[in-house]
Amino acid sequence: RSTKPPVEEITPKDVFIAVKTTKKFHRSRMDLLMDTWISRNKEQTFIFTDGEDEELQKRTANVISTNCSAAHSRQALSCKMAVEYDKFIESSMKWFCHVDDDNYVNIRTLVKLLSRYLHTNDVYIGKPSLDRPIQATERISENKMRPVNFWFATGGAGFCISRGLALKMSPWASGGHFMNTAEKIRLPDDCTIGYIIESVLGVPLVRSNLFHSHLENLQQVHQSEIQNQVTLSYGMFENKRNSILMKGAFSVDDDPSRFRSIHCLLYPDTPWCPRSNAY
Ligand code: UDP
Ligand code: MN
Repeated sequence: RSTKPPVEEITPKDVFIAVKTTKKFHRSRMDLLMDTWISRNKEQTFIFTDGEDEELQKRTANVISTNCSAAHSRQALSCKMAVEYDKFIESSMKWFCHVDDDNYVNIRTLVKLLSRYLHTNDVYIGKPSLDRPIQATERISENKMRPVNFWFATGGAGFCISRGLALKMSPWASGGHFMNTAEKIRLPDDCTIGYIIESVLGVPLVRSNLFHSHLENLQQVHQSEIQNQVTLSYGMFENKRNSILMKGAFSVDDDPSRFRSIHCLLYPDTPWCPRSNAY
């Protein structure tokens, strides 16, 4: 962990957190997030989804219907990212952070991390999903292609972009441009973000190992380091269930994602957390 002092005092209100979800995951995934970290950060968390859901809308005013298809296609996912980007630009917040609906966000550590940078500078921060740059082919015209190499932050671990950088991305990311850019390299939404930032704008990804997806072995996050992470996740990895290993308020049976236990560790005053945890 860096011990760099803050360069800009920011608060949670300066951070726009976009959560990507889809209707079929509202009960299985979003309810858990609403019960846990989102309940503490309702004003700055925006939920981007593809289907109406009264139950979810009752819990937060920040549900954004994207009008994107509910398919798991490259186009549908890029469509959602494009709406996330546009909504952030519309807001006056200083930082854009994207997460998936299987991420836990620790807003305190997120704010601490971002406060080490100026939001007016070009900052793209996250965890690279590969150990080398991705090799892609950029479509220049109908029959002209060009190889490109760039790093990108894996969307499943979450990543953040400063407003200064987001504004520079506008010609490739705003309105309908993001979808066109994604089609030029034919890669998923998070790769397209990396392409615009690293390849087009020449701004390097700042690597942080405080962001975690379920595509890494989450058991390697040490119990004593859980509260220092910015994002956590749960899910499948190499055909096995993957989650943080922690002794917590709830058993693995009652809390397989471990998110409820993590939440009680971070916010022991939560009414549904076992009382003994509060001291
Ligand atoms: N997702 C989506 N539409 C779909 C399927 C998934 O928007 O049709 C979202 C999902 O809600 C999550 C992200 O895409 O935020 C990644 O999905 P998932 O975790 O199921 O897959 P992974 O890529 O992590 O294996
Ligand atoms: Mn996932």
